[in-house]
Amino acid sequence: MSDFIRKILTVPKCRCCFKPAAGNLCESCGLQLAACRMKEGKIPDADCPPLVDTAYGSYYYKGAAAQSVIKAKFSNPARFLSSFLQDISVDINTILVQNEIDMVRSVPCHKSKLYTCETDLPRQMAKVIGRRFKVPVYHGLKKIKKTEIQHSLPLAKRKTNLQGAFLAQTDIAGKNLLLIDDVMTSGSTLSRCAQRLVQAGCGKITAWVYAYNTYMEE
Ligand SMILES: [Zn+2]
Repeated sequence: MSDFIRKILTVPKCRCCFKPAAGNLCESCGLQLAACRMKEGKIPDADCPPLVDTAYGSYYYKGAAAQSVIKAKFSNPARFLSSFLQDISVDINTILVQNEIDMVRSVPCHKSKLYTCETDLPRQMAKVIGRRFKVPVYHGLKKIKKTEIQHSLPLAKRKTNLQGAFLAQTDIAGKNLLLIDDVMTSGSTLSRCAQRLVQAGCGKITAWVYAYNTYMEE
């Protein structure tokens, strides 16, 4: 490989726009991402999914934050995952301590989805968070029914779409769990997971999402 090509391939690029950048984000995308940040870091109580004790969010799902998620899901999750804790690790650490979290778990996807080109971003995020903060990942929550894509459905159908979709095994009894997802819109998915976890005897359920989508399609 010529030095010229090697230089092009190894020059650090912005994870959002792929232009050359000193860090993981170029200056412009860094500023745009900062503008999407949820200042209070918490989803309003009125929108907190039922059975979830507290729901946190780091960004609003818009602009550079939405682009980060989309690019991570459909093109290069490694670039996103290697750097996303730099943006949000303060949030996560506080959440873990304040809520006395014992285990973390992503909102699971159905196994059929693993054959599509879409990355299971929440699962990868839970893995990175578990490793970074030395919190075990709970593997007992599964998605057992294939469902329609939530954000493609009107609000009324989102709840019935997920009926019987999740299953939680009993090795979570008495433990406080942090449920992790990339994007929350209506909160129906988190709520269904929480329902199963409560049935399995789970202690306090806390949720954290990378991006909170306040835009509701009707
Ligand atoms: Zn950029």
